[in-house]
Amino acid sequence: MKRPWKDVSTPLRDGMVHWPGDPECKITRVNRMEDGAVCNLTHLSMSAHTDAPRHFIADGMTMEQLPFEAVIGRCRVFELDCEDQITADDLKKIRLSSSQRVLFKTRNSTRSWSMNEFDKDFVSLRADAAQYLADLGVMTVGVDYLSIGGFNKDGVETHQIMLGAGIWVIEGLNLSDIKPGYYELICLPLKLEGADGAPCRVVLR
Ligand SMILES: [Zn+2]
Repeated sequence: MKRPWKDVSTPLRDGMVHWPGDPECKITRVNRMEDGAVCNLTHLSMSAHTDAPRHFIADGMTMEQLPFEAVIGRCRVFELDCEDQITADDLKKIRLSSSQRVLFKTRNSTRSWSMNEFDKDFVSLRADAAQYLADLGVMTVGVDYLSIGGFNKDGVETHQIMLGAGIWVIEGLNLSDIKPGYYELICLPLKLEGADGAPCRVVLR
C-alpha cells in the first residue's frame, strides 16, 4: 500500500508572516451567508511567491512556462543543521547530483514558522552554495522559509545565481514532519500568465 501524501505547504492566512516590504496576504470574505448573502465569497490578495526565473531575471521564464518535470517526480529531502547560512562546503558533504529535485530542511521548519514576526535570522543559502547548485545543474530547490537568499545577506545574489541558472525554486515549505530521504513530489503553482511567481500546494509521499 502506498504511504499517504503529506502536505508540506504553509497555510495561507489573512495577515500571515511575509517578506518585509512585500504586499501582505489578505484573505477577506466579501459576501457572507450569515449576513444574508446568497453565497460566501472570498477576496484574496497577496504577492505571487514561489519563484519563476522571471522573479530576478528580466527575460526569464514565467509561470505558465514552468516544465512539469521541475515540480512533479522523485525528490530528495536533506536535513541540514546549519545555524546561519547553508554554504557550498555544507552541500559538498551531501550527495547531490545534476537534474535532481532537492528540498532542504533546516531549523526554519520548526523555529521560524512558529514565530508571529518575520524571522530575519532564518537559514538561507549563501551565494557560494547557490553557485555550487548552479554548477551542479540541479533542477529544483525547495527551502523551508520565505526565501532562498537571506535577509540582508546574499538575498539578491543567491536569487540571481540560481534563477539565472534555470533552477526552479520552491519557497515557503514546512518540512517539520518530514524525515530526510526520497519522496515523490507534487507541486502545482497557479498558472499566472507572465508572472514571476505563483502560490502553490506542495505534497510529498
Ligand atoms: Zn525567492
